[in-house]
Amino acid sequence: MVQQSTALPQRKRMPRGQLLIDGNWRDASDGSMLSSIDPTTEETVTEFAKATVTDADAAVEAARRAFETGAWPRMHHEARAKILFRVADLLEERVEEFALRESMDMGMPYRDFVDVIMPHCAGLFRFFGGIAMHAMGGAYRTSYEPHIRILTRREPLGVVAAITPFNFPLALTCSKVAPALAAGNTVVHKPASDTPLTALALAQVMLDAGVPEGVYNLITGPGGSLGDALVKHPLVDKIAFTGSTAVGQTIMRNGADTLKHTTMELGGKSPNIVFADADVDAAVQTAFWGVFWNKGEVCVAGSRLLVERPVYDEVVEKLARMAQAAVLGDPLDPRTQVGPIASRAEFDKVQRYIDAGKSSKTRLVAGGGTRRINGKGLFIEPTVFADATSDMVISREEIFGPVLPVIAFQGEEEAVRIANDTPYGLASGIQTRDLGRALRLADRIDAGTVWINTWHKYHPGGPFGGYKMSGYGREQGAEALESYTQYKSIWANIAQA
Ligand code: NAD
Repeated sequence: MVQQSTALPQRKRMPRGQLLIDGNWRDASDGSMLSSIDPTTEETVTEFAKATVTDADAAVEAARRAFETGAWPRMHHEARAKILFRVADLLEERVEEFALRESMDMGMPYRDFVDVIMPHCAGLFRFFGGIAMHAMGGAYRTSYEPHIRILTRREPLGVVAAITPFNFPLALTCSKVAPALAAGNTVVHKPASDTPLTALALAQVMLDAGVPEGVYNLITGPGGSLGDALVKHPLVDKIAFTGSTAVGQTIMRNGADTLKHTTMELGGKSPNIVFADADVDAAVQTAFWGVFWNKGEVCVAGSRLLVERPVYDEVVEKLARMAQAAVLGDPLDPRTQVGPIASRAEFDKVQRYIDAGKSSKTRLVAGGGTRRINGKGLFIEPTVFADATSDMVISREEIFGPVLPVIAFQGEEEAVRIANDTPYGLASGIQTRDLGRALRLADRIDAGTVWINTWHKYHPGGPFGGYKMSGYGREQGAEALESYTQYKSIWANIAQA
């Protein structure tokens, strides 16, 4: 049921989006534009530049020039850190503008953006700015030649192309560009073509914070042509990618000729395991938000629910009730629990998976349909399929929408077997009162994140990334800086000094 609020943030038409190349805002070289569509109203929010390959070349060349001859990589790390702290401050000052853009662009819950996403984004710039304050290197002596000194330095890689997906557009951009910039690299960012609005605002923040011209460049437009141009470009050193496993594989192939550094944050099908000794009501809440937060458009969604037999019926019944009662509606309204799917293409794709679920031997206990609110919008009901098995399409493939298969199990061994029976390994969760069991299982689950009696916890200092087909490399945490730097060893014979 939709409820109306009197004091919602107001939708507005956003300014036209341009490309940021070498410190200047400009249109695409051929003047082409794309539209950003609000999935709640299905109306156009604004038009933005559809960059050409010529524009991609210009952005890369600007970033290269800034790296080879500009101040940024040579600046004292404390001065760079100060600018990154200013980026964090400006993000916080402009939080409402950013929240409105993300909500209108992709249906992100406005309140969650303000309360959770923006503090995380600002925190990333402070965290990596802080790390940049530490000198990045060491000094050693050999035991056999006392006159030899070894100095190690961590140096930036060069030009980083950040390619980001349509879900969590700002957060997944910040998790790349904060460490990239902190380490002294220059950046070309290409957001997903459906969700450019916060990327445009972030690029303006970079200029306003004093990031020098050419250090931060933004090209908006389609993945295939622009993505290829960046990935194959000989002047790009690293691709920092978040997106689907299939596109990640294409990028690895296309980047091979120029031996690109890559980090791959890819898809997931994360198991949430509820043991019979769990606090059932808390576990149901965790299962609901674990999969339906941001309407299921979350790489680490708990998108397979494994429930131990003694509490299976109770969990299914309570979860079904919660899903049936979920408030669908405008993401600007704080009472909304499930907003619209980000785009028509995703909306259609999720429905195909719901059809696959309906035609398999499962029990549909909640949802399964679409909704329109005030005659508009790309809403899909939170959908729960009970009695699923591990071999079904809905249990194996990433759906990336509000759809949850529930699988029964008995005992730890079966739980681990089903949890690991997936090509993915992004996240996982264990709901139990037995901490010993939880830690035992945490060792055995093939996933980059294990949440115990909780879900969706993130921190700029906590490394985040996947096992198996969910990718490699880590974002967040000191570990992330590793993948934006390379080591140099300098050997000096001081006997001649
Ligand atoms: P996608 O793979 O379709 O697109 C991601 C980005 O790649 C977009 O900017 C797109 O334009 C670009 N792209 C497309 N083709 C390209 C090519 N040939 N070369 C270079 N770039 C290209 O992903 P999506 O649909 O935007 O996002 C959803 C996917 O992202 C899901 O699979 C989800 O699990 C994954 N994801 C992973 C994480 C993580 O941290 N592991 C986080 C969020 C999303």
